[in-house]
Formats: sequence, structure tokens, C-alpha cells
Amino acid sequence: MPSDDLVAPALLLGGRLSIDFANIPSYPGAPAQHLSWEELIAFLEASHIVSAERGASLLALSGSDPDAAQTLLSRSVRLRDALRRAFGATVRKEGIAREWAEPINQILRITEGHDELVFGGNLWTAEIIVEGAQARLRICANPACGLFFTDNSRTRRRRWCSMAICGNRHKVASFARRHAS
Ligand SMILES: [Zn+2]
Repeated sequence: MPSDDLVAPALLLGGRLSIDFANIPSYPGAPAQHLSWEELIAFLEASHIVSAERGASLLALSGSDPDAAQTLLSRSVRLRDALRRAFGATVRKEGIAREWAEPINQILRITEGHDELVFGGNLWTAEIIVEGAQARLRICANPACGLFFTDNSRTRRRRWCSMAICGNRHKVASFARRHAS
């Protein structure tokens, strides 16, 4: 797991930008509230929301203007948490209240001085609200993981965010259980 000075590469395994955003910092079992400035910028770069050049200047912002960086970070966390709530409800087939789109729309436009990072509000709202149940949205079967993904498999029975991460961990654990006695 990444510590403060070591940022793991952003795992883009959600299949959609909005799902990837809900997953950041995108490693299985990350503490629910956690997100560092470095992890946010790493995600923005990996998903091509910002260029590497822009990412570098954003990284420096936490030193040159910590308040601005903190504001951006907390808005991003609010957006991420709103997406998690919406996706969690979808996975549990609870449906999504139309009002939920409003707070998401409000925070999609992130301003930082005269620059803006616009995450494409209408598109994301359409993804979440309109597609909803048909979106093949899943949550990883590893209860300690919590990552969302889109199941594009032919059989639609994908269980893990990543076979390499949670799938193998599960296989190793059940193998060990079977051979424990
Ligand atoms: Zn997982």
C-alpha cells in the first residue's frame, strides 16, 4: 500500500472514467476517506484529464498555494464520495434518486484560480442516472476491496476488480483453506 511519499500508479480498471474516479486512490482496501494530493494528480494524469505538464504544475501547487490545493482536493473527495454513494445504490439495485445528480453536477466544475478542470458533468450524470441498472456496474467480490468496475465479460459473471489482485488473492486463500488440515 502506498505511503505518503510513495504513490502507487493509478489503477484504471473501472471501465469508465466516472467509475475510475469513484475508485481513487484505486487500490483494494484503501481507507474510505483517504486521498492524497499526489494520488489525485497521479489519477488525473493517468486518465488523461490533465497533461503530464499540467500535472507537474498542479503537484507544485501544494507547495506554492496549499489552500488552493486543499480546496481542490476536498472538492474532488466530495465528488468521489457522491459517485461512490450513487454506484453503491446501483449495485444494490436500490436505484438512484434524481436529486443525487444535482450535488454531482455542482461539484463537477472544479475551479483553481482562472483555470478549470471540467469533468464533463452532463455525460457523467447520464452514465449514472440513465444507464443505472443496465450499466453492468459491479463491486469487487472481495469485501475488503471496495472497488467498482464495469463487467464487460461475455458471461457477465466477472467477480473481481482485477484477477491479478483480488482474484488471485482469493484463489490462494481458498487453496490454503482446503489444504490447511
Ligand atoms: Zn478487488
